[in-house]
Amino acid sequence: MHELSLVTELVAECTRRAGGRRVAAVQVRCPDGVDADELAEAFDHLTAGGALAGAALEIETVRQVLTCECGFAGEVDPEQCAGHMVICPACSRVHEAPDALELIAVRCVDEAGTVL
Ligand SMILES: [Zn+2]
Repeated sequence: MHELSLVTELVAECTRRAGGRRVAAVQVRCPDGVDADELAEAFDHLTAGGALAGAALEIETVRQVLTCECGFAGEVDPEQCAGHMVICPACSRVHEAPDALELIAVRCVDEAGTVL
């Protein structure tokens, strides 16, 4: 499962950034076509019992951006995205979407329960 490998990397990065503090929430940005439910499920699964247990995953989806050999460059409608494939709206060429689960922020909580 593709999402699982993306989230595995994400969790490793968050754990490193948190540096032992409790994590309240993790904010990520991902392109259309990535299954947000699957991401959330993988996140829950991978964080259970670990440093990130109970952290909320906040997913912001953005338009997939494509540059094609036919000259098309720009945003692609969600309908043109499937899994990690993106179809060029101009020439229908199928492209592999870049792995783009971008970590925006890791919100940690200190001993007093204050969100940092
Ligand atoms: Zn094209």
